[in-house]
Amino acid sequence: MAHGTGRAAGDAETSWQMRRDDDGIVWLTLDKPGTSTNVLSRVVLQELGAHLMTLAAAPPRGLVVRSGKRGGFIAGADVKEFTVLRDAEEGFELARSGQRVLDQLEELGCPTVAAIQGFALGGGLELALACQYRVAVGDASLALGLPEVQLGIHPGFGGTVRSVRLLGVRPAMEVMLTGRAVRADKALRIGLVDRLVPASELESTARELVLRAPPRRTAPLTERLLGLPLLRPLVRSALLRQLAGRARREHYPAPYAIVELWSRYGAHGEAAYLAEARSIAELFRTETARNLVRVFLLQDRLKALGAKGGASFERVHVIGAGVMGGDIAAWCALRGLQVTLQDRAAEFVEPALQRARELFARRLRDPAQAALASGRLRADVAGDGVPEADVVIEAIFESLNAKRELYATLEPRMKPEALLATNTSSLMLEPLAARLARPERLVGLHFFNPVAQMPLVEVVHSRQSDATIVQGALNFTRRLDKVPLPCRSAPGFVVNRVLMPYLNEAMFAAQEGIALATIDDAAVRFGMPVGPIELADIVGLDTASHVGEIIASELGRAAPDLTRLKQLVAAKKLGRKSGEGFYAWRDGKAVKPPAQGAIPPELEDRLILAMVNEAVACLRDTVVAEPDLLDVAVILGTGFAPFRGGPIAYARQRGIATVIARLRQLAGRYGSRFLPDAGWSALETHGKP
Ligand code: NAD
Repeated sequence: MAHGTGRAAGDAETSWQMRRDDDGIVWLTLDKPGTSTNVLSRVVLQELGAHLMTLAAAPPRGLVVRSGKRGGFIAGADVKEFTVLRDAEEGFELARSGQRVLDQLEELGCPTVAAIQGFALGGGLELALACQYRVAVGDASLALGLPEVQLGIHPGFGGTVRSVRLLGVRPAMEVMLTGRAVRADKALRIGLVDRLVPASELESTARELVLRAPPRRTAPLTERLLGLPLLRPLVRSALLRQLAGRARREHYPAPYAIVELWSRYGAHGEAAYLAEARSIAELFRTETARNLVRVFLLQDRLKALGAKGGASFERVHVIGAGVMGGDIAAWCALRGLQVTLQDRAAEFVEPALQRARELFARRLRDPAQAALASGRLRADVAGDGVPEADVVIEAIFESLNAKRELYATLEPRMKPEALLATNTSSLMLEPLAARLARPERLVGLHFFNPVAQMPLVEVVHSRQSDATIVQGALNFTRRLDKVPLPCRSAPGFVVNRVLMPYLNEAMFAAQEGIALATIDDAAVRFGMPVGPIELADIVGLDTASHVGEIIASELGRAAPDLTRLKQLVAAKKLGRKSGEGFYAWRDGKAVKPPAQGAIPPELEDRLILAMVNEAVACLRDTVVAEPDLLDVAVILGTGFAPFRGGPIAYARQRGIATVIARLRQLAGRYGSRFLPDAGWSALETHGKP
């Protein structure tokens, strides 16, 4: 029942459809027009408020709130609306108006149920928290979360208060402070949902909850005790200690604000809601939130470059089952494609299949789904999959000749319209394509390591590439749920090119005798996720030196003395993968010697501005079309401190003229590698965004 709630004629633009069934239960379905994903924009909230006002006047037997979109419930507030807030007062009003609507929902005089499938995130989960009960489809796609900290803010529609009241302080803090989505089993365990059901029972269970109105869930006793005013300071200190280990307050103020709100106001009462709104209004104004929101929206722009519904891709053939090819093949199978994986012999493919099985088990949880994914990935040493493939991805050794030889036998066997993609890190497309019958069909699909964790793929075109083929590659990247960055074939493309001077500068600093751990500390203090020395160990010292040398020589950049690095490589000390590199590695973590003295005052700028200067060079070379796209790619590909907004945004915030002057100063002290790139003049004239 209550399905097929068609819209009444004349209200095509409304987002909510309201229907009363024979039992007197009202079903409010959100189906925002013109989009595949529901968000809680101002208008959507106002409309909800109006419906709730009508219902409050004569409460129905019960209310079920649900989504009309197949993919999920509600993705959150409308992030675009954050960018037009002029002052703190507007931010405060935005939060208060959302709070008022959810208060109306909470206070409706009847049982209320949120019926969730797929995701309920941010404001969407806050809405569900304002219902008395939550029932969800308990499959692998369920993702419930309050990811606001990832945008530099915190929940603002009462979520900081209601989550603690429902779950208790520690589980609620984990959800809010990490911003990570909670999956089905855990959601039930911590009480975020009352029931998990198959999709076919979502509606009947929502109905049952309304009609039976069982006792409502409350936080466990221990958690409630921890919320008592006497114990709160202790819990607060423990939470702040944990946070200090993860993020600095001056870089990421939002998680600290969440702890302080709870510690001052607890999980009840009007003052707590008011304080939440005041606090989010302040956070909206921080540089951190502005940068993170901008990066979030830019990421959407990159995603929109590839159409998910474009040409259909069903079969992928991957050649080279090593670190990258093996993981690319597994990822394609995880995303539902039929994949054949080729290498020189079966023994090279088997380890990749084993890693794939582990990935499927981890990501899909349901053994039946994992078995289906394994079935989609087949070893294919003879290359039987080539003639059927819609996309052929080459990921063999980084050698121009080896790749060309392979293409010579490959190309005649491919479907005429199939994409030929290389995963090369450092070779240019033009020479790779030189002997192809149709050089215009070669593109780069540069995945990053580890494939399953890195969202970005550089989609590389050459002067010869065919525009339709490049668009196909962008679409294919979206089909894989990755974020595409279109870029031109040029040494190191964007990400490795910008990263290289950072790693090089670390080597220069080490040569001067600065302790390795101090070099890393300087970068981490700026906000990088790991320092350059640790990063080199993670990438693998063999790969880092090989790719670094190719890029440096093609671009004519000053190279540091790499004797120490090469000695390590010769001794098979390759970094994390071999258990030792610059650092020893235990249980996947670098063992660093204790800090040795203060960080030299110029070190941070040396490391960071080296990267920023190269980013400007990349723009001048038109490797990437726009500063905005470069910023987001460098954040996604290198982990460049996200709250700084990317290298170009950082330079603009610090002042272009100031950065140029600083580069000149560094050039005077450390050499011409710091001379400001000619591309700065274009940025100077554009001014601040
Ligand atoms: P790898 O050495 O781990 O794997 C290469 C695989 O290719 C090996 O299993 C090898 O047996 C196979 N192979 C070689 N020649 C072959 C042929 N003619 N036919 C079939 N199989 C063949 O290398 P990798 O690190 O996976 O790198 C592969 C490609 O990806 C390179 O172009 C590299 O530049 C690029 N890349 C590497 C990384 C990284 O971090 N390792 C990141 C991005 C891109």
